[in-house]
Amino acid sequence: MEQKLFIYNTLTRRKEEFRPITPGRVGMYVCGPTVYGDAHLGHARPAITFDLLFRYLRHIGYKVRYVRNITDVGHLEHDADEGEDKIAKKARLEQLEPMEVAQYYTNRFHAAMQALNVLPPSIEPCASGHIIEQIGLVRQILDNGFAYESNGSVYFDVEKYNRKYHYGKLSGRNLEDVINNSRELDGVGEKRNQVDFALWKRAQPEHIMRWPSPWSDGFPGWHCECTAMGRKYLGDHFDIHGGGMDLIFPHHECEIAQAVASQGSEMVHYWMHNNMITINGQKMGKSLGNFITLAQFFSGEHESLAQAYSPMTIRFFILQAHYRSTVDFSNEALQASEKGLSRLMEGWAALGRITPVADGGTVTMAYVDELRQKCYDAMNDDLNSSVVISHLFDACRVINSVVDKKATMEAAVLEALTGVFRTFAFDILGLKEETGSGSGREEAFGHVVDMLLEQRMIAKANKDWATSDKIRDRLAALGFEVKDTKDGFTWKLNR
Ligand code: ZN
Repeated sequence: MEQKLFIYNTLTRRKEEFRPITPGRVGMYVCGPTVYGDAHLGHARPAITFDLLFRYLRHIGYKVRYVRNITDVGHLEHDADEGEDKIAKKARLEQLEPMEVAQYYTNRFHAAMQALNVLPPSIEPCASGHIIEQIGLVRQILDNGFAYESNGSVYFDVEKYNRKYHYGKLSGRNLEDVINNSRELDGVGEKRNQVDFALWKRAQPEHIMRWPSPWSDGFPGWHCECTAMGRKYLGDHFDIHGGGMDLIFPHHECEIAQAVASQGSEMVHYWMHNNMITINGQKMGKSLGNFITLAQFFSGEHESLAQAYSPMTIRFFILQAHYRSTVDFSNEALQASEKGLSRLMEGWAALGRITPVADGGTVTMAYVDELRQKCYDAMNDDLNSSVVISHLFDACRVINSVVDKKATMEAAVLEALTGVFRTFAFDILGLKEETGSGSGREEAFGHVVDMLLEQRMIAKANKDWATSDKIRDRLAALGFEVKDTKDGFTWKLNR
């Protein structure tokens, strides 16, 4: 790899050079949504953070298998081992099949992600589709003596595990803190210790989402799915596991315990966590009345919103902060992002209008090389999108000075600068041009051409020249002029 990427590993609490287990390939797993309600701003942050990582890893030459799950079973009301299943509850209230609820909100989630220009993961497994793998995991942990059966449910024996390993290493706790901070919940009587967590739960008679198992008709504990599906699709050891900071404890801590208890070694090399979004300084929550869904942001229909905010404004707002910093939502902050984004897009549009000078030019190739390097340096420094954006703003100032005839640029410099802008603003930050209402068709049309050319780049990367040439020739026949650049491609329609 030409680029040396450093990422902050939550487990070791320091920035480490990223070295994949298999050279050239990366396996990454990110905890996806629980699909019982509309995606909100809190979902946008991990989705965009790990989309940035996915895009960057691919850009610097890795083949990435990105797994992001859909939690459609086992996530209970209290995020603990008690309470009704969130999806089953919604289904009961709305008189739907639980899978109808899960599918409906999965579709809505996909639509929101597409609007935010978040690339789909390579594999998107559902918890309910991997019950067999989860039962296998529970059986292994039982066989190794780190779990016990109680009244048809199976619990992880945290104390026993902690005697041999360290429960709490990811979140920086020790078992004593955990015991002191845990609250008594109903049904604790089945457990030997209140800190134990469920691997399998026997279903109550009214519980509709249930599967047969050696222990009871029931359902897997929430933490099982990520361990079981991560292992199934990425192997016993894989590179990156990500999610929001709120998942560090207990979810990811339990995942580590499950992996070690079942296979004797840790599964994940780098744990990455994005920080949270607060709303006017407060944590987001349904009960706090400051819970704004992405659909509401896009339409502006929420009493806390002064206006509608486009998906790219939301994306830009999130990328303007480093992923490990907190972000506070306010109308003022989003309005500032909206202005910033349009300044960047105006810079891009102006770039297309520049007439290069024959030779010389006051903006030099050295400037563009330095700009490119500074952007790579920022990305290599734990994905500092915020600094990349500030460099792109600097580029906009240079572009504007050329437009204002205070500076000049020759063709090669213009092309190189266009390449850097396209690479960082569009390919890596994943921004896209948004046009006003009414031109949605034209925008979609542009995306289709981009998509075809991306397929062509994949074909080229695979040395599939026949496909690559066919795409170019067919587009040429339709009047598209395609130009390959160092950083990808450009195209225009001649008509
Ligand atoms: Zn998870």
